[in-house]
Parts: sequence; C-alpha cells; structure tokens
Amino acid sequence: MIDRFDLVVVGAGPGGIAAATVAAEAGMRVCLLDNNAAPGGQIWRGFRADTARQYPHGRAFLYWLTRLRKANCVVWHSAQVIDRPRPGLLRMERSGEGCDLGFEQLILATGARERFLPFPGWTLPGVMGAGGLQAMVKMGLDPRNKLVVVAGSGPLLLAAAAGLASADARIVGIYEQARLAQLASFGLRLLGQPAKLIEGVGYRLKTVGAPYRTSSWVTRAEGRGRVESVTVTDGRNEWKQPCDWLACGFHLIANLELPRLLGCRITRGYVEVDALQKSTVPGVACVGELTGIGGLEKAVVEGQIAGWAAAGHEAKARALAPRLKKLQRFASHLDHAFALRSELRALAEAETTVCRCEDVSHAALKECSSWREAKLHTRCGMGACQGRVCGAAAEFLFGWETSSVRPPIFPSAAATLAGEANAKPAMRC
Ligand SMILES: Cc1cc2nc3c(=O)[nH]c(=O)nc-3n(C[C@H](O)[C@H](O)[C@H](O)COP(=O)(O)OP(=O)(O)OC[C@H]3O[C@@H](n4cnc5c(N)ncnc54)[C@H](O)[C@@H]3O)c2cc1C
Repeated sequence: MIDRFDLVVVGAGPGGIAAATVAAEAGMRVCLLDNNAAPGGQIWRGFRADTARQYPHGRAFLYWLTRLRKANCVVWHSAQVIDRPRPGLLRMERSGEGCDLGFEQLILATGARERFLPFPGWTLPGVMGAGGLQAMVKMGLDPRNKLVVVAGSGPLLLAAAAGLASADARIVGIYEQARLAQLASFGLRLLGQPAKLIEGVGYRLKTVGAPYRTSSWVTRAEGRGRVESVTVTDGRNEWKQPCDWLACGFHLIANLELPRLLGCRITRGYVEVDALQKSTVPGVACVGELTGIGGLEKAVVEGQIAGWAAAGHEAKARALAPRLKKLQRFASHLDHAFALRSELRALAEAETTVCRCEDVSHAALKECSSWREAKLHTRCGMGACQGRVCGAAAEFLFGWETSSVRPPIFPSAAATLAGEANAKPAMRC
C-alpha cells in the first residue's frame, strides 16, 4: 500500500518548513521530507533546539521548528526523492531501500548548491566550498588555528568567513571576484533593507582582522599532497598566500533537477512561478532558492505563500505579496552584483580536471561542441554527482546548455530503480 498525502513538500529548509507548517496548520494532511538527518536545510544545518539561540538566524529556526512540531505534519528525514514514476507519485530512497509516496499537491523547496569553477589545484585536499567548509564546521569539524583563505563570489563568503572566525579559524584573506563598483551599488540598494545591511556589516566585523579584497580571485592552489598555499590575483598583480584550507565557491545555483524532471518551465536558471508560487505544471509549486537566490527570508515568505495557496487560503497568501516583492528585488540585485567576470573562464589549464567524478580534463572538453557530445565522448557529468558540479562549470566555461535530466536524479540502488518500491509500504522515518 502506498501512503498518500494531500500535500508533499520536498526539502526541509526554511522554505519547505514554512510551506509544510502553514498547510498543516490549515488542516491539510502534509508530509515534509528531506534527504538530511534533520530539518533545517542549508542555513539551519546542524541547529538543535537547545543550542540554536547562539547562532545567527537561530531564533527564526526555533520559531519555525516549534510551529512545525505543533502542526501535526508528518516529517520524514534521510529520504531522498529520486524520481516521479507517474503523475501524483514520488519515488524515494533511504539507506538503499525504495519507497513510493502519493500526493495531491506538491511543493518543491530543494534549495541551492555552490557553484565551483576549476583552476589548477582545485581538487587538492583542503580545497573546499565556502558553504561546504562552513557546513562541515557546523557538523563538528574543528577549524581552530587553521589558516583559511575564503574566495570566490557571493554573500556566502562573508557569512562563511564569519562563522569560521567565530569557531577560531584564522581567516587570512577574503577574495571576492566582483568589482568594487558592483558591490557599492549593491550596498546602496540595501539601504532600503537595513536588516540585510546590518547582517553583512555584522559578518564583516567578525572578520575585521582579515583583508577583504574585491576584484580578486585565486588562480592556483599548490601543495604536496594537500593545499599549502594559493596564488591570488587582482588582474594586475599576483601574490602567494600560505593557508591550510581554501574555502572557495562562486555564488549559488538552484537545485533544478526535480523541477526539471517534473516538467516545470525554467527561465534563466530559476523556476517560473506565479504570484501563488505555482509552477507551469498543475499541482506543483516551487519556493525558496529554486525561484531566485535570495536567502532565508525570501524562502520563508514564499513557503508561506505556497502553503496557504495549497490549502485554499488565497487571500492570506496574497497578503504577503508586498513583502515578497522587496525580497525578490534583493534576489535580482544579488545576481547582478555577483555576476561572474569573464577572466574566470581562463583559469583552467589544459590538464586541469573539470569533471572530477570521471576525471575529465579541460583539454578533453575543449574538443567537444556541446554538453551532450562531452557526455558521450568523455563521460563528463556521468559520475556520482551526475553533473551537479561540472555541469555548472561547463555552462560557464563553454556556454553549453546542460539542462537535460533523467531519473534517477541521484545515484540509487538497482532494486529501487527496478520498481520494487511499489510493492512496499512507505517507511516512517
Ligand atoms: C552550502 C550552503 C551554505 C549556506 N550558508 C548560508 C549562511 O550561512 N547564511 C545564509 O544567509 N545563507 C546561506 N546559504 C543560503 C541558503 O541556502 C538560503 O538562505 C536558504 O537556506 C534557502 O532555503 P531553501 O528552503 O530554499 O533551501 P535549503 O535551505 O537549501 O533547503 C533545501 C533542502 O532540500 C533538500 N533536498 C534537495 N533535493 C532533495 C531531494 N531530491 N530529496 C530530498 N531532499 C532534497 C536539501 O538537502 C536541503 O535540506 C547557504 C547555501 C548553501 C548552498
């Protein structure tokens, strides 16, 4: 027998939690599921009810966790959606076991991931994503006294550097590829949203001993067996910076695999939605980073709009529109301010690995004329990450369209793929 819900919400970050909570409060039978071990998504990763208050955004986490717990919503964790075998049905996998889940309505809140760009040495141990390193520290990695360079692009650099500095890492430099003029105009636009400005200033104050340089980027990471130093440039001068870790990510990209699999229309990297967060596929809404990289508050407001709308409370959903407009403007300012400079396309050398799952070099990809050809001829994007890392890099480096998706959207056990899940009841997680 297959479990069925009025509403299934995929992704238990801020957007998914808000959506599931308001819909369950309105009386719907709701299931919220996530592939992590606990709700929270990226920004609330590793937060616990007893310690959350000590972190930035901890109060918002406690507020929503308390509401979610009271809302009579079924929450499944460590459950990864890998396919939609037929309309109204999702296939999941947990610990190699498959299970299916039926839904009347679906809200996708699958968030975003960091974009990585290849440069010589980027695969050395000790080179990590900025958000990735921050996440590992939240989960218990000890950064005390480590010399850390934070580089790449986006507001996550400052947030990650502040988090690392608070955990006693020694931040030796923060290098942002965006130009000062772009950031200054972004800052001016933030004057209308003082909370965001205060948040940014707060992060900077925590890292005040470390230089923050704009128009600067890492061109190379070097070391024997692991990173020991990086070369940084501002386009005119180059200098070496010793470090134990390099935390490097180039802003965020939305996790579009599931919306794509369902057939949602996607424009310029985000799912198209209407004023009630409904996608172009009937019964499927999308919220949070999927509709524009805009952070916590945007995800929570969109989640509430989608949740209210799913429960038939359109007026309540529409009442949030003015607040959302402001947050959407912030998202588009972010995209503009942290647009990638063309010099980054020249970082990878012929032998630099672009697809690390299948060990494909830049030179091998240069021989290809499209993402499809690259996949067929080099196996680029065919490994464990399914192109989640190299696909975004190839898009930027070669201008290829890398939007094809097919199930399973995550590597899965053969039994799950064979459809045995249909015969089993969905497990309670
Ligand atoms: C690595 C990283 C670190 C970040 N750190 C910060 C920070 O410190 N400060 C800040 O302001 N912003 C940070 N952000 C931005 C942050 O993502 C947003 O502000 C906010 O969390 C967006 O909420 P969301 O609900 O849209 O998605 P998310 O919070 O990303 O939640 C999406 C959830 O969906 C799950 N999921 C995805 N696909 C599936 C699937 N197929 N099946 C089941 N579950 C799935 C994910 O694992 C995740 O738990 C970070 C982003 C990243 C990528």
